[in-house]
Amino acid sequence: MTDLTLGQKQRLFTSLVGELIEFAYSRGYELTFGEALRTPEQAKLNAEKGTGISTSLHISRLAIDLNLFRDGKFLTTSDDHRELGVYWKTLHPLCRWGGDFRPKPDGNHYSITHGGFQ
Ligand SMILES: [Zn+2]
Repeated sequence: MTDLTLGQKQRLFTSLVGELIEFAYSRGYELTFGEALRTPEQAKLNAEKGTGISTSLHISRLAIDLNLFRDGKFLTTSDDHRELGVYWKTLHPLCRWGGDFRPKPDGNHYSITHGGFQ
């Protein structure tokens, strides 16, 4: 399972995001895409500003931020994402949900762990 190559993980991740999106809509949510791929340059800037980390899995195409809506209302808290986060973690043992991150939960962030990062 953890022997997957980066490319295999990237392709698995994209497929699993498809399942997550379908689940979200089936539960009455709507989504828009937030950030998916992030350049190393941007990750470094985010780290300097304290809004991200330089080792972000966004750089490796293994993370996506999803904007969540219900009844036209933009849902912004980590807790709003909990139902999707819990479902995401059932899809594959490598799936991680930003709502579990401490000390700064990041509920709109869905990723696959790689190289010790989540
Ligand atoms: Zn993210």
